[in-house]
Amino acid sequence: MENYLSNEKTIFAFNIWDINSAKAVIDVAADVNKNIILQTSSSIFQSMPKRQMRDFVSSYSVDKKIKVWLHLDHCKKEELIKEAIKFGWDSVMIDVSDKELSENIRITNEITAYAHDQKVLVEAEVGRVKGVEDDVDGRDGAVASMQDITRFLEETNIDMIAVAFGNAHGIYHGTPKLCYDLVEYTVGQTDIPFVVHGGSGLRDEILKKLMKIHNVKKINISTDVKLAYRKGIMQAYYDGKMEEDGFQAVIVEQYIHNAIKEMVESKLALLK
Ligand SMILES: [Zn+2]
Repeated sequence: MENYLSNEKTIFAFNIWDINSAKAVIDVAADVNKNIILQTSSSIFQSMPKRQMRDFVSSYSVDKKIKVWLHLDHCKKEELIKEAIKFGWDSVMIDVSDKELSENIRITNEITAYAHDQKVLVEAEVGRVKGVEDDVDGRDGAVASMQDITRFLEETNIDMIAVAFGNAHGIYHGTPKLCYDLVEYTVGQTDIPFVVHGGSGLRDEILKKLMKIHNVKKINISTDVKLAYRKGIMQAYYDGKMEEDGFQAVIVEQYIHNAIKEMVESKLALLK
C-alpha cells in the first residue's frame, strides 16, 4: 500500500471544522500550488456531514488542481475510526498514548490491521503531546523515551509516527524546549514519516529547522486556524461590520476567509 506522503516533501495539515473552513484553506493552497492535508478532530468529525465533506474535498481539490487528503486527528474510539474509513477519509490517527505502552501497541495494531485492509493509512503517537486537544488532555505529558519509540516502531506497522518531543497543543506560553535529538533519533529508527503536532505558534525558524530533518513530513496546524477565524471576526468588528444595521454575513465571511488566507499563506511560504 502506498503512503501518500511518499511523494511529498513536508506537508502542512490544517484542522478544519466545516466546508467553509475547508474551502478557505484549499483556496490558499491552490493559489500557491501546494498539496495539503485537512484534518478533523474526532469531536468535529462526529458532528459534521461526513459524506458531503468527503465529496466537497474531492471535487473541489480536482477543480483547484491540488491534492488534498482528509485525515482524522487524535482519536481514541475504534467506532469513530471505522466511520472515518467508511466515509473515505484517507488516513486516521489512533491516539491511545495515554495508555501503557503495551496497550498502546495492542490497540494500534488492531486499528492498523483494519485500516490497512481498507487501504487507509494510520498515524499513532508515542508519549503524550502536551496541551488540550479535544478530549485528549495531556497536560502532564513528558517527552517520549527512546526505548519506547524503538519498541513502538518494532512492534507496530503504522504509516506515520507522532512523538512527544516537547511540543504542545494550543497556545505556547514562552518558548517551548524542543528535543530535536528525539526527532533525529526517531527518523533514524524508521522509514515512516514523522508528524509534528502542535505546529501552531512555533516560530518560522523552528518550523524550518524541523522541516530540514529527514522524513519530518507532516506538520499539524490547528490552533492557528481557529485564531485566524477569530482574528477575521475581530477585524470585521473593528471595521464596523458587526453593526445590526446593514449587517451582511457574507462580508464577515470574507474577513474570516482573508484572515485564514493570510495565516495559511505564511505557513505554506515556508515550503519553498
Ligand atoms: Zn495533535
